[in-house]
Amino acid sequence: MGNKVKITIAKGDGIGEEIMNVCLDIIKKSGAPVEFEEIQVGKEVYLRGIESGIPDYAWEVMSRNKVLLKGPITTPQGGGYKSLNVTIRKTMGLFANVRPAHSFDPFVRTHFPHMDLVVIRENEEDLYAGIEHQQTPEVVQCLKLVSRPGSEKIIRYAFEYAKAYGRKKVTCMTKDNIMKHTDGLFHQIFDEVRLEYPEIDSEHYIIDIGAARLANTPEKFDVIVTLNLYGDIISDITAEVSGSVGLGGSANIGENFAMFEAIHGSAPDIAGKNVANPSGLIQGACLMLVHVGIPEYAAKIQNALYKTIEDGIHTADLKSAHSEEIVGTKEFGQAVIKRLGMLPDKIRPMRISNHKINIKLKKRVRPSKKLVGADIFIDWDEADRDPDILGQQLEKITNEDLQLKMITNRGVKVYPEGRKETFCSDHWRCRYVSKANDKKEISQAAIIKLLGDLVKKGPGFIKVENLYLFDGVRGYSLGQGE
Ligand code: NAD
Repeated sequence: MGNKVKITIAKGDGIGEEIMNVCLDIIKKSGAPVEFEEIQVGKEVYLRGIESGIPDYAWEVMSRNKVLLKGPITTPQGGGYKSLNVTIRKTMGLFANVRPAHSFDPFVRTHFPHMDLVVIRENEEDLYAGIEHQQTPEVVQCLKLVSRPGSEKIIRYAFEYAKAYGRKKVTCMTKDNIMKHTDGLFHQIFDEVRLEYPEIDSEHYIIDIGAARLANTPEKFDVIVTLNLYGDIISDITAEVSGSVGLGGSANIGENFAMFEAIHGSAPDIAGKNVANPSGLIQGACLMLVHVGIPEYAAKIQNALYKTIEDGIHTADLKSAHSEEIVGTKEFGQAVIKRLGMLPDKIRPMRISNHKINIKLKKRVRPSKKLVGADIFIDWDEADRDPDILGQQLEKITNEDLQLKMITNRGVKVYPEGRKETFCSDHWRCRYVSKANDKKEISQAAIIKLLGDLVKKGPGFIKVENLYLFDGVRGYSLGQGE
């Protein structure tokens, strides 16, 4: 057959090889016009001395084929190499993580037989930028980065996805009551973009109550768009309450590359035992077949998978009163192959769309930017950490442009007029602004001069964050109690 779609595959670690072999066999037997090119990535590659876990040739193959079907990859916790999943997502610009979750009622137990939603998670930014520093013996920080284009891209993607798949509502979830600038930007862009889609209902939830509602009434949700970390957490909740984390597939979509996988991990506890459920990866493969423009094969495979589950042929993780036969990974694959061409009776079929989702960002004029001060962070562990003593010392370190306005400890104002009950760590944020007022422009040279004085006459510094106004609007948060 001519014009086969070339697909890169990486079997991954743990149960990866077992479930991938079954999955590839099903795709081949479905007659889908695809060809596979295998690459090696993950733990084995890392142990051979390639630190990223991805050899050069693998990047080249991925770029050439533009589509990757990936088995789960083990990420060592704490030390060791960085998450390879995150490396691929970020290097290849996979800005959208799409995770559908619907129930397989009554064949897989769930309290929510009518749930059918999709979580669209921003995939590149937020706390997953992986920029962390220890700044004092007591305090470690992680930078949360949220960009306007990154947020606009994922929010537009969510609305376009809703349109393409005939979905009715988009729900945004953030924590902008606390993170007014990062999450606030995401929410603000959601409010701008939703106006362009009057035919689609839209709403916003604070993430904590949103997650609670998802766990309690997931049927009320349709498309959910959110930041990276929240999306990571709530998409596991939605997979779990739909019946099983082992059943979900996910798509990672970029402008020129896309990666498809199961949502579960490498399950080292059951690797090599022929007991793993391959359904999650099969579902990921179906999302992939839709993406490469052959949705009819996606439907054929998914219908066979659902029919197998309806017939009570289950792997051990799905064992229930509806199970007729508990089978191993390979035998489950054979059962799916036997049912290619059959339709399920009860389980809702896959939503398919031939509509290609294109995202166009709005052109924007860059706002004016005015430097009005600096937050200087200090490591200080003297005088029983009495904020008044630090404050009085810093009041003396000043210059013609800058003076100390306040000191906070872990975000709470402790000087001037702090409360003695506030616990203080060794990490102090000292806000300096112009002597005239906190909207007056200052120079970078004034900050450098002040830093020099802090080193010469005071406790030195560990970090500086400049304070800016953008088109006159404050671009930094106030201290609690400021
Ligand atoms: P996990 O999903 O691998 O396992 C959680 C539990 O679910 C285990 O009891 C496991 O046996 C079971 N399970 C998972 N998949 C199953 C399947 N297909 N069939 C039957 N049972 C299944 O999560 P974990 O134990 O937290 O993580 C293990 C490793 O996987 C870690 O190194 C983690 O970083 C990695 N991981 C990778 C990915 C990915 O590659 N996308 C995603 C999540 C976790």
